[in-house]
Amino acid sequence: MGWALALHGGGGGIPLDYPPEQLQPRVDSLRHCLQIGIEALKDGMPALDLVELVVRELENNPHFNAGKGSVLNCNGDDEMEASIMDGNTKNCGAVSGLKTVVNAISLARLVMEKTPHIYLAFDGAEAFAREQGVETVDSSYFVNAQNIERLKQAKEANRTQVHYTQLDYTQPTPKDLKSEKWIPNGDSKGTVGCVAVDKQGNLASATSTGGLVNKMVGRIGDTPIIGAGTYANHLCAVSATGTGEAIIRGTVARDVAALMEFKGLSLNDAADYAVESFPKNTAGLVAVSATGEVAMPFNTLGMFRACATEDGYSEVAIWPSTMN
Ligand code: ASP
Repeated sequence: MGWALALHGGGGGIPLDYPPEQLQPRVDSLRHCLQIGIEALKDGMPALDLVELVVRELENNPHFNAGKGSVLNCNGDDEMEASIMDGNTKNCGAVSGLKTVVNAISLARLVMEKTPHIYLAFDGAEAFAREQGVETVDSSYFVNAQNIERLKQAKEANRTQVHYTQLDYTQPTPKDLKSEKWIPNGDSKGTVGCVAVDKQGNLASATSTGGLVNKMVGRIGDTPIIGAGTYANHLCAVSATGTGEAIIRGTVARDVAALMEFKGLSLNDAADYAVESFPKNTAGLVAVSATGEVAMPFNTLGMFRACATEDGYSEVAIWPSTMN
């Protein structure tokens, strides 16, 4: 028993020679957000407040693909999405198609708490944001030179992209990176998520994203889909990252909970089993259990991730542990 938290800043084809000037701010930000989470949990913050707090911090950070740093769709616009779930009550809220809301995760929580519904999208979600008085900005706040360059590269390659587009799913050699097998996505970056169990054993999960670079207008990924990108119940909380279409088909977050509930698997066994069942290079997740276990498996080359537990263990990592 004890509190625990885990967060991610996206998974995908992250090569070992990821440019240090792009890597370092992300690692520093993960460490910073982990510290915020540790202190809040030590102070007794409930898991639901904690996951919202940490994801807001990640959304306000331009180094991740959520909130301020959200990538652009094929029209050069942002369409952000997020979801949140309370493991105690199984209450949940989700939003998609946001263009002006600074913190999508907080709007998802308001959908959960202030409406009879679970999921609001596009004009309805924007109108609800105004009604609730959450912070909104001109959509130019989300557009920057790096995101325009990412979109240009994705359009040239005619792809939607999560980090590097990797055609053979192995860690590339320096020669590979110069070959056509690897299509760089500029200064790539990923979705964010946080899961936590608090001192009382309450679980919660939150996930937020700008989606895929060059996605079609109106495309919805796994992040706001309860059971796919986000899930929490009395046993575990899960937040996923990777290729949304694969994760929606595989309902990875709910699978972890179902393996624990119906098959009696431990968190680590359930999380490994669920991720292994996915096509290579499509999925990763962070998860915690009611008893304070943490799991962070992925079948991509890397996943920006961090975790901490009440007994003093903490970790910030990108690649499989042998490579970090
Ligand atoms: N899962 C997200 C999506 O498909 C992308 C990511 O995890 O980076 O929208």
